[in-house]
Amino acid sequence: MGTRTILVNCKQCSKLLRIEVEEDDFKDENKEIITVVHAHGDLGDKDGPHAVIVEIDRNFIIRDTKIPNQFVNSFNI
Ligand SMILES: [Zn+2]
Repeated sequence: MGTRTILVNCKQCSKLLRIEVEEDDFKDENKEIITVVHAHGDLGDKDGPHAVIVEIDRNFIIRDTKIPNQFVNSFNI
């Protein structure tokens, strides 16, 4: 099983993000869509830390991208 690289344009900060999807993520043949959350940005950036939610189908095509209204985290940065 390999890895596929998908490029996503973040609508909030306009950065091009690289997402690695394992082909194994579709091992369950009933699974049509996988969801990836890509969190990025730094506290000092204009946009601050934020996340993009990306929905990817079995053909590794992006079906939808969403910017959450809130990005709450309890990481120790
Ligand atoms: Zn962004």
